[in-house]
Amino acid sequence: MAEPYYIPSGDEVAVFEQCHAHQLAVMLKGPTGCGKTRFVEYMAWRLGRPLITVSCHDDLSAGDLVGRYLIHHDDTVWQDGPLASAARHGAICYLDEVVEARQDTVVVLHSLTDYRRTLPLEKTGELIHAAAGFQLVVSYNPGYQRMLKDMKPSTRQRFVALDFDFPPAEREIAILVHEGGVDAGTAHALVTLTHKLRGLQDRGLAEVPSTRLLVATAKLIAGGIPLRRACYAGLVAPLSDDGSLVGAMRDLVDLSF
Ligand code: ADP
Repeated sequence: MAEPYYIPSGDEVAVFEQCHAHQLAVMLKGPTGCGKTRFVEYMAWRLGRPLITVSCHDDLSAGDLVGRYLIHHDDTVWQDGPLASAARHGAICYLDEVVEARQDTVVVLHSLTDYRRTLPLEKTGELIHAAAGFQLVVSYNPGYQRMLKDMKPSTRQRFVALDFDFPPAEREIAILVHEGGVDAGTAHALVTLTHKLRGLQDRGLAEVPSTRLLVATAKLIAGGIPLRRACYAGLVAPLSDDGSLVGAMRDLVDLSF
């Protein structure tokens, strides 16, 4: 597998490596689209571990993570879920937006995140002892109040936490040139505009434009879509349905290009 493109923002690579060496679970905190998933992909590559990713949602059951019996012809066969599979094979298991999952689902993580490093499969009676390279990584967006409430202290305390945020301007420009395929001048203008749009958070914009949206917008521009049109579609429209906020954002686009 090719090296995933990732520009570090501080010492997160070294801290993560220590966590991996000491078999500590890691929690990545930060707004959506700021590079958490890319970081995990990069670390899995760097550490030479397989990566199993689960996007969590409020319907995710313990069975979805651990596994279930499936009917196969006239027989029932056990099928490991992503968590059981990761524990068995020493993979990094990344639970994206973990607080979206139901509390009773999150509880199955507990025995894997302490000295036991085990996962009981209640339905088969098996107790999986996690292989040496197994590591649990979760992400969440502290911006959603509901989620802070949902994450129990007894769960939080099982993780080493790394804070993430949008990259500073020079790094975000470099990302846009590399990932979005635009020239440095356009990347600079897009990042300047984005900083202004992020300033609208005080005026009620719930979600500010992420690096992910910026990359998407840059790709549209690199593909030949005119600048303003690309910004309306890539940066403005996804963020709000509120007429006055959308108007304010479009004005900022028009002033920039
Ligand atoms: P998250 O998991 O935080 O929602 P992602 O990891 O999917 O966000 O990041 C969204 C996109 O932003 C990535 O696909 C990548 O193009 C870009 N990106 C963000 N941060 C970085 C970084 N530090 N280095 C390289 N690319 C980055």
